[in-house]
Amino acid sequence: MSARVLVVDDVLPNVKLLAAKLTREYFEVLTAYDGPEALDVVLRDAPDIVLLDVMMPGMDGFEVCEKIRSNPATMHIPVVMVTALSDAADRVRGLEAGADDFLTKPVNDVALFARVRSLVRLKMTMDEWRARETTSGQFGVIEPSGTMQGEAHDKARILILDDSALDLDKIAETLKRDSHITTGTGTCAKALERTQDGGFDLVIVSLTLLNEDGLRLVSQLRSHERTRQIPILLVADEGDLTRVAKGLELGANDYVMKPLDRNELLARVRTQIRRKRYQDRLRANYEQSLSMALTDSLTGVFNRRYVSAHLPRLLDRAIDNNKAVSVLMFDIDHFKVVNDTWGHDVGDEVLVEVTTRAGRNLRTFDLVARLGGEEFLVILPDTDAEAARIVAERLRDRIGQSPFAVTAPVGTIPVTVSIGVATGGRLGDTTESLLKRADAALYEAKRSGRNCVVVSPSAANGGYPPAEG
Ligand code: GH3
Ligand code: MG
Ligand code: MG
Repeated sequence: MSARVLVVDDVLPNVKLLAAKLTREYFEVLTAYDGPEALDVVLRDAPDIVLLDVMMPGMDGFEVCEKIRSNPATMHIPVVMVTALSDAADRVRGLEAGADDFLTKPVNDVALFARVRSLVRLKMTMDEWRARETTSGQFGVIEPSGTMQGEAHDKARILILDDSALDLDKIAETLKRDSHITTGTGTCAKALERTQDGGFDLVIVSLTLLNEDGLRLVSQLRSHERTRQIPILLVADEGDLTRVAKGLELGANDYVMKPLDRNELLARVRTQIRRKRYQDRLRANYEQSLSMALTDSLTGVFNRRYVSAHLPRLLDRAIDNNKAVSVLMFDIDHFKVVNDTWGHDVGDEVLVEVTTRAGRNLRTFDLVARLGGEEFLVILPDTDAEAARIVAERLRDRIGQSPFAVTAPVGTIPVTVSIGVATGGRLGDTTESLLKRADAALYEAKRSGRNCVVVSPSAANGGYPPAEG
């Protein structure tokens, strides 16, 4: 995952130090030395995350953060405040200004990378939801979802895992101030069981359990379909940053350190609740749009009409942000034989299973569409040609490696696909040229024997070498 990080600090060595650390981890680093410059860079270069110094002459970090949050064009960019202050009151002020987190100087590497990676991952998922919403909105099917700051943050249902009655009481007591409804539990197993019927808006997980490791619950919640999206807030002992970092890597959303500051706990819970409700709303709007006009009735994946509306938008976004978007165009090999031998219904079963296998092997923000007949397209946002080739190879392998179960007397039939890969994101790239190159690569894959992947040469150096033999 390559991400663009903006580092803002009025002290040059601070900027250099952070920039060097991030560059070593392959992040792309932008820099700014005061508030107004930071706002310029945010607007111009759309970073994926901002690391923001609090104490700066003129416009301080709180003000910069508020300005980022109040502009619709930038309000979705995660902001982490980097501060020499460790006062809880300042943390709360920052959270209220809309910051996602705080790092204390000198910045601990483990905390830094864990935080940046988890916030960037979250942003990418949210970006994709918003882009899909805009596309669906264009067809007049749905109402826009509003903003995250506009969501209510009270009266949420919260599950707390903590085996200390004292800590549990303190947390529950504090959450009452926002009229939250809390349920306490003392073991990972019970907590997991409670979450399965859905209904919780947040799970608070203590990492200071006597007899087990709360991280186990984090990992279990993330691996179950029903709880994959539920926000998780960790409560950890001061100094236990290594496990906090591990928790964030496993998919926890945020953490608070003991001794608990009540206002900070409330502020962090509010952020999670707002984000959850906003995300739920995006998803609900989006699902409503799915039932209309934009999907293929046989396989349930998107149709060509949706691709025509969505791909130009993704491509524009990629060009603006100087990133890549890749597409895989694939087509079932000798599909006509399946129809001719086993009948059209069996052919239909194969089409459905192909999309199922494709969907299972992609990321949540990748997208599968049926362009027509037995030709499909996968769109991979933020993916360069080499990564796309790897995905294509995996897809080809997962489809071809085991035969498809069908309702024909033979029971199963082997199915393979040929895949053409093309990547865009440079100035001048169009949806049309991108699809054309993918189509040419697919044709080339068919020509060189089928069941294989061909990556389109970049537009600049044109054509293919002649096939051998
Ligand atoms: P190649 O390896 O070159 O792709 O050969 P092919 O036989 O797969 O390609 P061809 O384009 O000649 O045949 C595609 C077949 O797909 C012909 C058509 O009957 C079938 N087909 C198109 N749409 C559907 C559908 O919705 N259901 C079924 N069962 N078959 C379909
Ligand atoms: Mg065909
Ligand atoms: Mg075919």
